[in-house]
Amino acid sequence: MNSKEIKDFIKKGRKFAKPFRVTDDSFRLKDIDPEDTLDLTAEDKPQAKEALAMGVSVLAELQNMLYAQDQWAVLLIFQAMDAAGKDGVIKHVMSGVNPQGCQVYSFKAPSDEDLDHDFMWRCIKRVPERGRIGIFNRSYYEETLVVRVHREFLEKQKLPPELVTKDIWQERFQGIRHFERYLTRNGIVIRKFFLHVSKKEQKKRFLERIEEPEKNWKFSANDAKEREHWDDYMEAYEDMIQNTATKHAPWHVVPADNKWFTRAIVAAAVIEALSSLDLHYPKVSKEKLKELAAARKALLAGK
Ligand code: ATP
Ligand code: MG
Repeated sequence: MNSKEIKDFIKKGRKFAKPFRVTDDSFRLKDIDPEDTLDLTAEDKPQAKEALAMGVSVLAELQNMLYAQDQWAVLLIFQAMDAAGKDGVIKHVMSGVNPQGCQVYSFKAPSDEDLDHDFMWRCIKRVPERGRIGIFNRSYYEETLVVRVHREFLEKQKLPPELVTKDIWQERFQGIRHFERYLTRNGIVIRKFFLHVSKKEQKKRFLERIEEPEKNWKFSANDAKEREHWDDYMEAYEDMIQNTATKHAPWHVVPADNKWFTRAIVAAAVIEALSSLDLHYPKVSKEKLKELAAARKALLAGK
């Protein structure tokens, strides 16, 4: 794609992710239908896949500039119930980018060392460097999700008892809001994604994991058991998004029952974030141009 085609593509894609962007506390989870595909139908699937492929190459170009410019960093945070498709989104959307400019971290159950620290410690260590795209597959947001749904996790965190009050979740939200404000003021651009899958679609995907031998490795009996807490999770997600969606660090609540649609929306949102930065290759100084000309001459004159 040439630079005009890239510009046109970015312009067209701009509006695509907007209906799913949340920037304040007015958000209600019931307003997002996991099955939603906007006005696209299954027949549009091939075009959506084609657009995603174009998106991937545009993203690669933007990432190259991000890397060369070495000023901004981008942090993409993914949260979802199991089998919502986090891994697939990360794999497909980032498939064209240079691995050197991309850092992916998966945050699983915390280690003993993690539990000996404040709740954001393990994630703070993984904030991307300038010029890079960092991806958090789960994040400190688990501290207001799984830890809220299962109080026994909170008990393992060795917090002084007088600090564990009914306000703890609001206090965590506040800590997160301040942290994200701090990061954005330091040139780290944040976009957060909740892949919103329905309980029904999750059941279907779990059954596929059981029935298709090559998917067996993905199935965990514990994931299926977590379905008993579905409503608690949805409440925790809604509260979390309401309390941590801001203009500088927006959430995208992405319908996740149709994988092709989820991937296209996430790609559009990431492209939108990068293209809002006015990225460009570093300008070459006069001295540098002279140096290049001299080097060229020397190379041509030599053997
Ligand atoms: P996969 O899709 O491969 O299963 P995953 O992200 O679900 O990927 P798991 O190996 O299942 O990976 O580990 C993630 C588990 O760790 C989740 O159940 C999650 O809730 C849990 N977890 C993450 N952060 C925390 C935390 N801070 N405290 C307790 N549990 C956590
Ligand atoms: Mg899992």
